[in-house]
Amino acid sequence: MNPTELKKPIHVMKFGGTSVASPALIQNAANRIVERQNSGFHVVCVVSAMGDTTDRLLSLAREISNDPPDRELDVLLSAGEVQSMALLSMALHEKGIAARSFTGSQGGILTDAQHSEAKILRIDPDRIVSALAKDEVVVLAGFQGQDEQDEITTLGRGGSDTSAVAMAAALGAELCEILTDVSGVFTADPRIVDGARQITALGYDEMLEMANLGARVLHGRSVEMARRFQVPLVVASATQSTPGTRIS
Ligand code: ADP
Ligand code: ASP
Ligand code: MG
Repeated sequence: MNPTELKKPIHVMKFGGTSVASPALIQNAANRIVERQNSGFHVVCVVSAMGDTTDRLLSLAREISNDPPDRELDVLLSAGEVQSMALLSMALHEKGIAARSFTGSQGGILTDAQHSEAKILRIDPDRIVSALAKDEVVVLAGFQGQDEQDEITTLGRGGSDTSAVAMAAALGAELCEILTDVSGVFTADPRIVDGARQITALGYDEMLEMANLGARVLHGRSVEMARRFQVPLVVASATQSTPGTRIS
């Protein structure tokens, strides 16, 4: 089935690590998703690993080996997002919502073989579209895919943003929302610069420049991808209902 045959517009909602860091925050994410579904949209949510899980997995690996095989490191790191996707899907089931979680490979995310910095080559969203056609909420693990040898790959630190934008492009989503621990994109990192102001709207080029200068609020590659496929992006708070920043 082609995503254009679905009966409702699709919204992609990406929840970053701090926004799914505890069971209470996972419940919060589930509530936001239910609200969106009730407003008449198909929802695909993309999740990061809980809190500092990725860092903890990395230090565990270093306790075992100074030079872990790239392949095994990606298998290990991918587990962080797998944990989040299953828990968020369970939280949705608790609320009586049909939801189905997908790893990157189950979601059809094909990458090159560059472990820990893989690039998405193509997405085959068939299984995701079938789930949406059954009115299921799709919960996709961010930051991961599989290469042509069916090996698990990861997309580089902060890469869940890129998973979200790439899936939004593949599905022709009406909106890709990046829900995070700040209320939008600011003129500078609001945690460092006193008096940084929130920006209401900006263009892809300006956002790309900010990301390249180190504004980690969006993974640089996600902005490039959004520009290439003209995916409308909104960066907003995962816990407050404030307007956020629109990038288009
Ligand atoms: P997530 O886990 O949701 O992906 P990140 O930590 O990757 O969140 O990105 C959000 C963080 O980006 C904010 O907490 C903030 O400290 C930082 N940041 C850096 N530059 C900016 C900016 N210009 N505007 C907003 N946030 C910024
Ligand atoms: N969990 C991964 C990281 O910590 C990916 C992400 O959060 O976007 O980098
Ligand atoms: Mg991030």
